Amino acid sequence: LAQITVIGAGLAGAEAALSAASQGVRVRLYEMRPHKMTPAHRTGQFAELVCSTSLGGEGEMQSKGMLQAEMRSVGAGIVGSADHSRVPAGNALAVDREAFSAEVTRRVRECPLIEVVEEELTAVPDGICVIASGPLTSDALAQDLMRLTGSERLSFYDAAAPVIDAASIDLDTAWRAGRYEQSADYINCPFTKEEYQTFIAALEQARSHTPHDWEKLEFFEGCMPIEEIARRGPDTPRFGPMSPKGLDNPRTGRWPYAVAQLRQEDAEGRMWSLVGFQTGLKWGDQKELVQLIPGLQNAEIVRYGVMHRNTYLNAPEVLNATMQLKADPQKFVAGVLAGTEGYLESSATGWLAGLNAARLAQGKDPVAPPPTTMLGGLVHYLASANPKGFQPMNVNWALVPDPPLPEGKRKWGKREKRPLMFRQGMSDWQDWAGEIGLTISPHVLAQP
Ligand code: FAD
Repeated sequence: LAQITVIGAGLAGAEAALSAASQGVRVRLYEMRPHKMTPAHRTGQFAELVCSTSLGGEGEMQSKGMLQAEMRSVGAGIVGSADHSRVPAGNALAVDREAFSAEVTRRVRECPLIEVVEEELTAVPDGICVIASGPLTSDALAQDLMRLTGSERLSFYDAAAPVIDAASIDLDTAWRAGRYEQSADYINCPFTKEEYQTFIAALEQARSHTPHDWEKLEFFEGCMPIEEIARRGPDTPRFGPMSPKGLDNPRTGRWPYAVAQLRQEDAEGRMWSLVGFQTGLKWGDQKELVQLIPGLQNAEIVRYGVMHRNTYLNAPEVLNATMQLKADPQKFVAGVLAGTEGYLESSATGWLAGLNAARLAQGKDPVAPPPTTMLGGLVHYLASANPKGFQPMNVNWALVPDPPLPEGKRKWGKREKRPLMFRQGMSDWQDWAGEIGLTISPHVLAQP
């Protein structure tokens, strides 16, 4: 039988091992816990949930619900273990922490094709391998990854700004332009003096997320959070990331008092991030603040800003949508290391990386799901996002295209369009999975 290696038995690695084994490939799975722990993990169990116990909202109105459905339909191990250990949590797939990890560990340990090696791997091994060592990848392995990808392509912390769904930006207030003669690559949100003062007062009041001691970051100028910049004085942001210089507002013919700029994140222009607004503020406070920005009063935030320790690759520079490293197609990367955010996303990219590693080992071509599916939208994003300031991404509706508008209709409401996107995506997912010979279960939504 063909054999592959998987590094890390976390959310991505455990799923990758199960996925590859389900294709009839032998797997050697390396996990360094419990001999060597990370600062966040507490046990030697596989797929330990280090913080919340939720794998996200369920059902056809939720982007995570769609990804759960895709994973459930192909019998993926993490969602299966979550269904097995779920606890009541409204419309979310929440689990009993210990029961969930115990179930994943049982599935992995009982699989006859998976050999578990309880050891730290300090270098990426030869041959076909899935690297899924997570946000707290051990130092020695991180060093070796830099050798494979180039040191500038591996980051050791997030400094992420909120990302906004383009459809929710009010272009009657904001406008597209570059500074001075630059090309019009930015969307600019203009502040009057009063609006700026209100915004800064709210920024001063906003509450920060409290990181663990080991997560605390030393900020340097290039990634200073916006709340830290404002702490230096109320006008400091206006002379920094909120500078209006060179931006003639077409509605007044003048530079505004201050500006918030948005930069395109994805190839299709469905997501825009606030330039220089990296922040560690609590999510509720972030939303209120963002909606104080003129033009973003109805902003739909698809990814919140975060500032914490995290190890991840600049996916658009180094990865294909098949999760293969461009520099070495025998090496697959999954989970947070591959530029995803979240338990469910990590497991889903692990599933794809494991499937593709197995396919490669069997002489077949690696594959990627269609971009109308949630996993397809995510991996397409990873491979094609704006590499400048790339930050890890969670699933959201802006990753998949809107359904075509019926004739005469001007705009979709999200209550109308999401079920259509869900059904189209699931239909495309099932066709794709069928074409590559996977067995599909008709049960895509959780059983009551
Ligand atoms: P992990 O699940 O961390 O798995 C990586 C595994 O690799 C670990 O078991 C580790 O021990 C092992 N490993 C590392 N280096 C080596 C090596 N050299 N050799 C062998 N084994 C190695 N996401 C959410 O959805 N909700 C949350 O509430 C949440 N909270 C988080 C809190 C913290 C503190 C952090 C850091 C992240 C959080 N995340 C959260 C983000 C992310 O979803 C999780 O980190 C998730 O576990 C990532 O999955 P992964 O498989 O990429 O990494």
